Amino acid sequence: MKGKIPYGYKLDSEGRPILDPEKAPYVAMIFEKYLNGISQMDIMKWLNEVGAHSPTANNEWKHNTIGYLISNSKYTGVGGFPPIITKEMLIQVEEIRRKSHKRYDNNYYTNSNGRNKKFCFTAKLVCAKCNRQFTSHRVGNGKTINKIHVWRCGNYIVNNMVQCEVAVANNDLEELFTEIFKKFFQNYEALERAQMGKCKNSVESNEDVVKIDLEIKDHLKTKNRSSDRIVELLQQRTNELWKTITLDDFKETTKELRKIIKSLDRAPDYFDAELFNRTIKQVTLYPSGKVTFIFLNGITIHSIYKEYSKRKRGKQYG
Ligand SMILES: [Zn+2]
Repeated sequence: MKGKIPYGYKLDSEGRPILDPEKAPYVAMIFEKYLNGISQMDIMKWLNEVGAHSPTANNEWKHNTIGYLISNSKYTGVGGFPPIITKEMLIQVEEIRRKSHKRYDNNYYTNSNGRNKKFCFTAKLVCAKCNRQFTSHRVGNGKTINKIHVWRCGNYIVNNMVQCEVAVANNDLEELFTEIFKKFFQNYEALERAQMGKCKNSVESNEDVVKIDLEIKDHLKTKNRSSDRIVELLQQRTNELWKTITLDDFKETTKELRKIIKSLDRAPDYFDAELFNRTIKQVTLYPSGKVTFIFLNGITIHSIYKEYSKRKRGKQYG
């Protein structure tokens, strides 16, 4: 036998795969639970609770271990492995997984009860210039019927005039999060320590943010308002945001984030809407092309985004 033997099997004295009575029943139960609509996350919790032997060295089940397991065709009796499930079961699992990936591609997430489908970016994207949330647009490029999904500042058009052009393509945002999450995942310990230090030193109130908000409101009322000043104020506001996190909040949200990180072998290579929804508090987009991702416990990662309108012009003539 070459390679690793799939979980649930062992080799007999002649090197042929046979069922491992300690593990094979869990394989069957994992498939059954998944087909009954139980999420990978909940199956993982269950396996750890019942203390089922895990395929990984530290004997702990991870979210994506289950993903690999339920996509392995050997369990249907392929390649000399005794079958544990039927071919039909594997096909059904593939169907469910394809649908759920399609859901993520469309940027939706569903609550654990399966209802309340929402765009995961709704209510989490904020324009730094206007302090407004973003709205979802389908934009045609004129040549084809393919529409591009774009997020625009809520102030995009006011009184038939373009007021704010801060915009980003949905795909770019998804790629950006996937990239940012990798950084977050790989450097988590250091990021948490740094954030902890900020929390301890902070006054446990959001007075500064309230003050900045008032100034922004006043400024928006004035006729000859300067958008530069507003941007400046909002940058200050973002800088102050972490101070609104009290040590208690920090501990609570850090616990949640650690749980999520522990459930992953590695950061996913594709956009995971559920992961975004569970880890991100806010994404702030600046007219300058700067973007900040603020995680639940205040950890902030800066990056650059492709501004939608600029990108479009570049493509058209380039
Ligand atoms: Zn705006």
